[in-house]
Amino acid sequence: MTPQRAATRTRPRPWRGVIEEYRDWLPVDASTPVVTLAEGGTPLVHSEALSQTTGCEVYLKFEGANPTGSFKDRGMTLAISKAIEAGARVVVCASTGNTSASAAAYAAKAGIVCAVLVPAGKVAAGKMAQTLVHGARLLEVDGNFDAALEVARVLAERYPAVLVNSVNPYRLQGQKTAAFEICDALGRAPDYHLTPVGNAGNIASHWMGYAEYAAAGAIERSPVLFGFQAAGAAPIVEGHPVANPSTIATAIRIGNPASWELAEKAAAESGGQILSVTDRDILAAYRRVAREGLFAELASSASVAGLLRISSEGRLETHATVVCVLTGHGLKEPDWAIAGAGTPPRLPVDADAVAAALGL
Ligand SMILES: *Cc1c(COP(=O)(O)O)cnc(C)c1O
Repeated sequence: MTPQRAATRTRPRPWRGVIEEYRDWLPVDASTPVVTLAEGGTPLVHSEALSQTTGCEVYLKFEGANPTGSFKDRGMTLAISKAIEAGARVVVCASTGNTSASAAAYAAKAGIVCAVLVPAGKVAAGKMAQTLVHGARLLEVDGNFDAALEVARVLAERYPAVLVNSVNPYRLQGQKTAAFEICDALGRAPDYHLTPVGNAGNIASHWMGYAEYAAAGAIERSPVLFGFQAAGAAPIVEGHPVANPSTIATAIRIGNPASWELAEKAAAESGGQILSVTDRDILAAYRRVAREGLFAELASSASVAGLLRISSEGRLETHATVVCVLTGHGLKEPDWAIAGAGTPPRLPVDADAVAAALGL
């Protein structure tokens, strides 16, 4: 190819982040400063193995490919951009997980202060490393998570600080772009859309996205939505808050979801349901997805555990298109991956011995 022809060749333009890619669908205008880490544009990976097991066409939306390793970045780009537009110099959240990791990164990008309130003594190393490395101000509160969130709320009411927990409406607005991307990639909406449920904002936001695309005629019809809570933390399924939620899937260990009603509405309006899956099934799904080359968080695997559950119950039409959202990256909590592995064999410095051990 001559240099001249190379110059005129049309190149795919780089992904610009969810605000620029979906500007017309989001509450921004020309004066909104866009704080982005080029989030979104995550892979939609066809799963041959899960398709074969279920008789459906199964795709995995790998949200672990976002800049901080979870879908939280979709909402955070908008929440932080709107906070800057409103003149904020400080944002605050109560979290020990992916929300604080994302808030810390976007606040760093914007050059503002991010305060993270956590329950005293409950600071886990994994996701907290992200929060700390981006320079967030970590503060321990004498009390549980609910107490920390209450302090964050009151702080944001009384002082010039913006709350970026999922009660911030811009979070859900940004998160709905996952539904847009799925439709844009498939050229239509899937028949079923399956997602883990914790605070329940994500499933609510996805329904918002599908409903908006349907209303605008961008898709003919919306998918049926199924949300999956962990059995030990299933307040929506049980119909009442759970005082001491317990599950290995920490990102969905929520006893009283903030977006409870929105999630129930999303499931009902779409003809779907919120169900639960056991920790054992979550762990099995986690391992299964990993064997297909995608390393997802335990919580993320609830959508695949849920797929296997409703498929075995005969609740999916054959050949239907199904999307399971894998909400976060498995590298955030490597312990479960390492715990399952045995000790490697110790061999002499000899290729033949290695070949023998491999059965070559
Ligand atoms: C936040 C989170 C969830 C739960 O999402 P909700 O909107 O709270 O229902 C699930 N998985 C991961 C990895 C998360 O970070």
